[in-house]
Amino acid sequence: MPDQLANEIRATLAAARSQFEYLTDLGFEEQKIAVPAGSGLQNAESAIPGSEPLDTIFNELGDCQRCGLGASRTKLVYGVGNPNARLVLVGDAPGHEEDLQGEPFVGEAGRLLDRILQAMGLHRDDVYLCNVLKCRPPNNRDPQPEEGATCEAFLAQQIAAVRPQVIIALGPFAVHSLLKTNAPISKLRGEWQSYQGIPLMPTYHPAYLLSNPEGKRDVWDDMKLVLRRLQTDGECL
Ligand code: SF4
Repeated sequence: MPDQLANEIRATLAAARSQFEYLTDLGFEEQKIAVPAGSGLQNAESAIPGSEPLDTIFNELGDCQRCGLGASRTKLVYGVGNPNARLVLVGDAPGHEEDLQGEPFVGEAGRLLDRILQAMGLHRDDVYLCNVLKCRPPNNRDPQPEEGATCEAFLAQQIAAVRPQVIIALGPFAVHSLLKTNAPISKLRGEWQSYQGIPLMPTYHPAYLLSNPEGKRDVWDDMKLVLRRLQTDGECL
């Protein structure tokens, strides 16, 4: 067997083994991976006409003190990732590590999210990550409705700028803020919802999975629906 072919087979087997190990480690029992069609997760369409670019929205936030959380934050946590992503993931609010680093989904829950994305065949640079609230509630207390009402306009602008094909809302505050419902995630997850005409999948936040690992199977089922949706929509591009 030529050396080049042998090396390619070894590389393919190593990649498959790595993905299998991620899923097994996450507690997923079914190792069927769907890879989105098309070349990556780049959105072929531009932002909604009239929407502001992401850096303009960030500049508008500035040293935001529009709600009380501005006074206690260390760093404002805006958003990271691909500004033209087909997939946007929205969490609740920054935690301790996010507040220190100024980046969403870092720390233990963020590392779990990275591994979920990796199991989907994705990297955090392929998607766009942000939270409803840009500042950490003190001691990780629950966000207050008035804080969400003040801050969510910036989230709406971020989503309009990226214009993804699919949104994943992670955790109750994100789900309830985007869908304007108080229904529990356990009732909403696994079914497609809609935000501003964009398909939205509600599911559990990775921080919840750290203390409730039995929820991983549900999250993986939701991620498979997301991958299928991106694959189907990708074929239409
Ligand atoms: S949470 Fe949002 S509205 Fe409140 S201070 Fe931070 S950026 Fe401003």
